[in-house]
Amino acid sequence: MADLKKAAENLKSRGFNVQLFQTKEAAADYLNKAIDGRTVGFGGSVTLRDMGLYESLSTHNSVYWHWQGTPISTGEAEKAQVYLSSVNGLSEDGDIINIDGNGNRVASMLYGHEKLYLVVGRNKLAATYDEALWRARNIAAPKNAQRLQTKTPCAVKGDRCYDCKSPNRICRGLAVLWRPMSGMETEVILIDEDLGY
Ligand code: SF4
Repeated sequence: MADLKKAAENLKSRGFNVQLFQTKEAAADYLNKAIDGRTVGFGGSVTLRDMGLYESLSTHNSVYWHWQGTPISTGEAEKAQVYLSSVNGLSEDGDIINIDGNGNRVASMLYGHEKLYLVVGRNKLAATYDEALWRARNIAAPKNAQRLQTKTPCAVKGDRCYDCKSPNRICRGLAVLWRPMSGMETEVILIDEDLGY
């Protein structure tokens, strides 16, 4: 079974800043102390939603999120100083895996911000890269498709990815972070609770 502490050490050895928390409340408290008076963009994330981070960070930052009325087309989240997202899979070795449909979330993980925070519950962790990719494709993506009520086979059956050819396919690009991108400080917030998909 994959070990969150080992993942933390491996992420550090790759150059990521890492914090490990036992609860989502402790992690949210840390993020509220660390991010103040900034422009902040959010990627689509059940993890961020369930941590109440939009509400708490908005009391002392300017936060932009398409789930809270800022359309992606404005580019406000993508221009923000700080960007927050979760991930779809994390290997114990420290490979960070994301699948995207619009591309705004993975683009922001690769470029354009002073600082990136990736908030990751323990359920995203897998022993190997292949298993982390498998969970991103067969667990995270179908659950997101169900949330979005797409007419894709994964949303209808809810059991796995069918690598569909549907025009409603939400899986259109894959990004893997091996290291923090050059010029963008990246901090991984690991939480020893199940969070998001
Ligand atoms: S590729 Fe299609 S079937 Fe597979 S998870 Fe994505 S939307 Fe669902």
